[in-house]
Amino acid sequence: MPAGTIWAVTAHPSSTANIDWRARAAGLRPDGRAVIDGRRVAARNAATFLKTSPIDGRELGPVAACESEDVDAAVTAARRSFDSGAWALARPSARKKVLLRFADAIAAARDELALLETLDVGKPITDSLEVDVAATVRSIRWYAEAVDKVYGEVAPTGPGTLATVTREPMGVVGAIVPWNFPLLMAAWKIGPILAAGNSLVLKPSEKSPFTALRLAELALEAGLPPGVFNVVPGFGGTAGKALAASMDVDAIGFTGSTVTGKLVMQYAAQSNMKRVGLECGGKSANIVFADCPDLDAAAAAAANAIFFNQGEMCSAGSRLLVERGVRDALLEKIAVHARDYAPGDPLDPSTRLGAIVDETQLQRVLGYIDAGCREGATLRLGGRRARQTSGGFYVEPTMFDAVRPEMRIAREEIFGPVLAAIPFDSTAEAIAIANDSIYGLAAAVWTRDLSRAHRVARALRAGSVYVNCYDADDITVPFGGYKQSGIGRDKSLHAFDKYTELKTTWIELG
Ligand code: NAD
Repeated sequence: MPAGTIWAVTAHPSSTANIDWRARAAGLRPDGRAVIDGRRVAARNAATFLKTSPIDGRELGPVAACESEDVDAAVTAARRSFDSGAWALARPSARKKVLLRFADAIAAARDELALLETLDVGKPITDSLEVDVAATVRSIRWYAEAVDKVYGEVAPTGPGTLATVTREPMGVVGAIVPWNFPLLMAAWKIGPILAAGNSLVLKPSEKSPFTALRLAELALEAGLPPGVFNVVPGFGGTAGKALAASMDVDAIGFTGSTVTGKLVMQYAAQSNMKRVGLECGGKSANIVFADCPDLDAAAAAAANAIFFNQGEMCSAGSRLLVERGVRDALLEKIAVHARDYAPGDPLDPSTRLGAIVDETQLQRVLGYIDAGCREGATLRLGGRRARQTSGGFYVEPTMFDAVRPEMRIAREEIFGPVLAAIPFDSTAEAIAIANDSIYGLAAAVWTRDLSRAHRVARALRAGSVYVNCYDADDITVPFGGYKQSGIGRDKSLHAFDKYTELKTTWIELG
């Protein structure tokens, strides 16, 4: 994606409109076996689980249910490949070449990957193509290009000594990722992990295993040595835990819920004190002041911030803090924009709001809508299950007004298309409400007052603050959270901090 673009697709391109995605989907038979040491393998005990699609309940196929012995095999393969130096000690220019070929291979497989992603998690096919796959290619390519452009340091220690500071790969790195952006969250880890020379064991979510497995195949075809990139599909409590608790994994990059992130920290502490990077949940505040320069733009962005990707966004603008003077005008405009997000068939290129990932998540979202009504918030839009006859899991774009900060819908991460509008009267009150959260992933402020924009941006305890926009995105900028939204940053060169060791070498010059 070019710098400054918003995550969501604003215009649905005609290039995808001519493809018959339903016909293609009917012919798809995804391979759910693990990728270990360069080969497709079943789980050692032959266990599988059946993956179905949230679009309509169709069966997608069996997936290897990896357990600790499979994870151990993958970690052993990763360690062997790392120790061999085939990747870690390859010339940076050679690593760059392979990773660029990998990015090209992903781009060439874009239709297949997008279709897998849409079938697996229910997101609209146009989003899968134009956001998920496109940003995945860009992420891998960007880190490929960084391989031979990051230098070490010489410390200013004085004339008698030379002290160099070099970055070294950590060794075997585990990555555990969620289902809301299966390709992209993996790519934000794969890029810096492989570019730094590590070997990788990736554990995709049990709700979205297929694209990660395909990525590993594409990486092998691009020339990555066997064992450098392994994928172990399976459940969190077995495969995920085994990876995070392994004595032979040097670091874990985790993206997922805050509850699981805390468990990953525990496993690391109880095993080998591996380094842990965490990208966790959010409950981000989108603050609109009465002097907002463009209320239409703010409304469009607010709708997109909560309805894009079915609201299954870590950085969703799920709390809309609106100054009382523009409350009605803003909410009316958001309701108009919400019409663009009528739940539809994710295989139709014009659909902008697809299916919720599974029945559990659907019930969770409906449960929060129920809680909002019971706690006294005003339901202004949506609130019901949709497209039930499809056999899939859909929810109407939903908006609550008159939400009080202590309500559950204002405090807990819903991870669905449910907006909570909270009115406020002063700048201080807005900042206090925004910061009154265990999370601190993102926030936005809409005002034409430059001084206020800076003051509020500084006061907000969040990893990303947007001014007069929401969810601006580029691979060059770090992304991550304050507080219980995480530890460390994905994207940009800062991501290397999670997957490299700093070595200081002292040389006595005499
Ligand atoms: P989750 O925590 O349930 O699962 C995430 C991953 O952890 C999955 O692969 C899962 O199998 C694994 N897992 C589950 N239990 C485990 C355990 N005991 N040990 C090890 N691994 C385990 O989260 P989810 O429902 O897949 O994803 C949604 C969450 O991810 C939301 O909270 C969202 O905010 C967060 N998220 C954060 C970011 C970010 O960049 N901060 C990005 C995307 C999603």
